[in-house]
Amino acid sequence: MDAKPAYQRILLKLSGEALMGTSDFGISPEVMSFLAREIKDVVASGVQVALVVGGGNIFRGEGLARAGMDRVTGDHMGMLATVINGLALQDAIERVGVPVRVQSALRINEVCEDYIRRKAVRHLEKGRVVVFAAGTGNPFFTTDSAAALRAIEINADLMLKATKVDGIYTADPKKYADARKYDELTYDEALTKRLGVMDQTAMVLCRDHGVRLCVYDMGRPGALKAIVMGDKTIGTRVH
Ligand code: UDP
Repeated sequence: MDAKPAYQRILLKLSGEALMGTSDFGISPEVMSFLAREIKDVVASGVQVALVVGGGNIFRGEGLARAGMDRVTGDHMGMLATVINGLALQDAIERVGVPVRVQSALRINEVCEDYIRRKAVRHLEKGRVVVFAAGTGNPFFTTDSAAALRAIEINADLMLKATKVDGIYTADPKKYADARKYDELTYDEALTKRLGVMDQTAMVLCRDHGVRLCVYDMGRPGALKAIVMGDKTIGTRVH
């Protein structure tokens, strides 16, 4: 008989960059189908899965503002970019046979549902994956903050941040050979040491509401499933 998962409900944050694969823009079909299969495996083990998706592979408000655009308009474009990614994820995950609903923090009723917390929880209880798009719906925030917020709102047992490295390091492991990986860390340590886990708003939200976070390498096949089954050796835990 299969072992029981260690968590009932998780929230996985996928950055826009995570969807690009080896390109420097857009969405990689290979990455999408890989992610869809990884998520399917977790859903099949009985875990409820919510996703928050970023938009950095298409637009970031800050970058657009640096190029001269009005920041709020840039942030609106960034949030709409997350909706595009959300629809792509919905498609990829449905293609592997798992039902999905996209809920947007900005109203775009022709393409997806509005974010309604109770409805989102109902979807999760029915085994549907819920993709939270459009961040918090407000400019000057990030999708990491949106992920923290939604994790708290839906009472997720674990928030996961999928990255390209296998956890949080003392320094950038790609630049410094002596960089050391943390197995465990507190939000206060991450904040004081200014470790680039997430932006400070997201970390403070997580800290103040007791969100348990795991930062892991999304490219490692089976990692997501192993984490939800209770493997504590993967990635870095922040609490
Ligand atoms: N954004 C926003 N409010 C939010 C979340 C996101 O205005 O609550 C905008 C912001 O411009 C941001 C862009 O959407 O740069 C894409 O989100 P983010 O940079 O967090 O994406 P990621 O880095 O995860 O790909």
